[in-house]
Amino acid sequence: MEITLAIIKPHVVRNTVALRNLKNLIGKNFTILDSKQVHITKELSERFYNEHKGKFFYNRLMTFMISGPSYALILQSQDCIQKWRNLMGPTKVYKAVYSHPDCIRALYGLSDTRNACHGSDSEQSALREISILFPEFKATEIVMNN
Ligand code: GDP
Repeated sequence: MEITLAIIKPHVVRNTVALRNLKNLIGKNFTILDSKQVHITKELSERFYNEHKGKFFYNRLMTFMISGPSYALILQSQDCIQKWRNLMGPTKVYKAVYSHPDCIRALYGLSDTRNACHGSDSEQSALREISILFPEFKATEIVMNN
């Protein structure tokens, strides 16, 4: 069993119908080990997106991620990382709309920055990202027990 970190980004959390739809979709596909609404701070956002520092979209990504509450979840399933990334679809929303019109980013994304959701891209990233948003979560115990 694998775990991953999912984030529903601020503009989707503001849309209660969209948020409910996504929670239903997630509930049908994954075991939710933990979840919470969290207003990500500038400091947390900078740690989280450290690898993107200096890129042209970094400042707008920071501004967006701290603009309001997000909804963060720790998901578990077989092939959880790829499964959630497949449901999310491509990073770039305009590409997603054409190539994967039913994916989350095509349905709820507004732009390449406001692309609706986040999912870890590897087991190592999942552990790092979970430790940032859920510092109290004991990932090693969960992974070892499954
Ligand atoms: P992800 O793993 O699919 O979320 O993609 P990345 O790790 O490459 O990028 C992190 C986040 O930065 C994305 O989810 C977007 O919000 C934003 N981002 C990535 N690439 C671009 C881009 O080319 N333009 C803009 N405006 N934002 C981007």
